[in-house]
Amino acid sequence: FWEFLQKKFKQEFAAVSYQTWIESAQPIKLENQKIYIAVPSGLHKDYWERNISTKVVEAAYEYGNQEIVPVVILESELKKPTTTAALNPTTETSENIQKKSPLQEAHLNSKYTFDSFVTGTGNQMAHAAALVVSEEPGTMYNPLFIYGGVGLGKTHLMQAIGHRLLDRKPQANVKYISSESFANDFINSIQNRTQESFRNEYRTVDLLLVDDIQFFADKEGTQEEFFHTFNTLYNTKKQIVLTSDRLPNEIPKLQERLVSRFKWGLSVDITAPDLETRTAILRKKAIAENLEIPDDALSYIASQIDSNVRELEGALVRVQAYSTMNNEDITIGLAAEALKDLKDSKHQAGLTIDKIQSQVAKYYKVTVDDLKGKRRNKTIVLPRQIAMYLARELTDSSLPKIGQDFGGKDHTTVLHSCDKITKLLENDLTIQHDITNLKASLKN
Ligand code: ADP
Ligand code: MG
Repeated sequence: FWEFLQKKFKQEFAAVSYQTWIESAQPIKLENQKIYIAVPSGLHKDYWERNISTKVVEAAYEYGNQEIVPVVILESELKKPTTTAALNPTTETSENIQKKSPLQEAHLNSKYTFDSFVTGTGNQMAHAAALVVSEEPGTMYNPLFIYGGVGLGKTHLMQAIGHRLLDRKPQANVKYISSESFANDFINSIQNRTQESFRNEYRTVDLLLVDDIQFFADKEGTQEEFFHTFNTLYNTKKQIVLTSDRLPNEIPKLQERLVSRFKWGLSVDITAPDLETRTAILRKKAIAENLEIPDDALSYIASQIDSNVRELEGALVRVQAYSTMNNEDITIGLAAEALKDLKDSKHQAGLTIDKIQSQVAKYYKVTVDDLKGKRRNKTIVLPRQIAMYLARELTDSSLPKIGQDFGGKDHTTVLHSCDKITKLLENDLTIQHDITNLKASLKN
């Protein structure tokens, strides 16, 4: 199972995140449907519990329809004689499991509240809409559709709505679920002939939060089921909140009737925060973690990671770990040192879209104009998509910028190309081979 997890996470996380969070963790044992995982620091534990634990649960379903819950423990606790206490759940904890709090019932992460959410350019609109919805669920914006790139706070904001509603009305029936878990639950309900209770469970909530709805693509049966869930909730004025990495009509293979329903309410996007907002997020995080970091170092870190808040948090941990290891205070110099290979591993300094285009053109024996053009020949389309994919992977250019450099194409075309190649890479050996070669040639 651990190997399965590693493989899955390797695809899902950026290389740096993977190194920081997954490689440093080690599985201890699997017992009573619990997997015990040891991590090196409190920050790691926190990150695991916040961001990775639910993924482990989902992966276990995927792996073998099992319910496995991760228990994250500190490596330092492993060495203490109290290890057995940490590893063997006491009766107290099993009681806790039986008597779930409203938060656990709703599957909300206690840290994703409005209080811990920093507003700024990029998320102001989404934040305002989320506030309105939490105050007046089911009446103003239904559904609320929040879309934007990875790690920009969609899940956080969506769960904040749940928290706020529960604060105001502790009896409210709130449910958070990823679209993948919804699909899994649905499939299980068919296999176990428990569709009745599945329907009851989802059609009787006051607030339904469905995360990453783009994964409904290709799932016909699940879409059908969700269509009915949606209608029931909508007609009884219950609030629905959805997130996705793109607009409803950009989700491939999403039924037209769902697309149109998703547009009934309000769609708001979250875009990457500017430097000031990123610095504010880091400052808040540093205070929460009791880290002593001077302001100039904070804005330095914020200046280095510009697209993804999750990566930003990762960078902060990295700097912190580096400072502890070397027993030095955090300064700009130390931060630069700590983040050095992080930059190298992802975007290649000095690599331009031009250069990628000319290498790809040479490799596939087409012209750069072909890549920038509109011709749909098979011999050109694939190289064009690969070139876009590499531009996205290896430079820090935004989607619109890449589109522009490919003869003024729309950013959704670029997104589509990247998705396509990512998918092909899963099992097409020729493409894997080509991409590896191209990446190597671009390194020089
Ligand atoms: P998404 O769902 O868009 O991929 P998440 O909601 O999981 O992103 O956010 C990734 C991480 O960044 C989380 O730990 C979240 O708390 C943090 N984060 C994102 N945006 C903000 C923000 N505006 N203020 C504070 N933390 C944020
Ligand atoms: Mg999310």
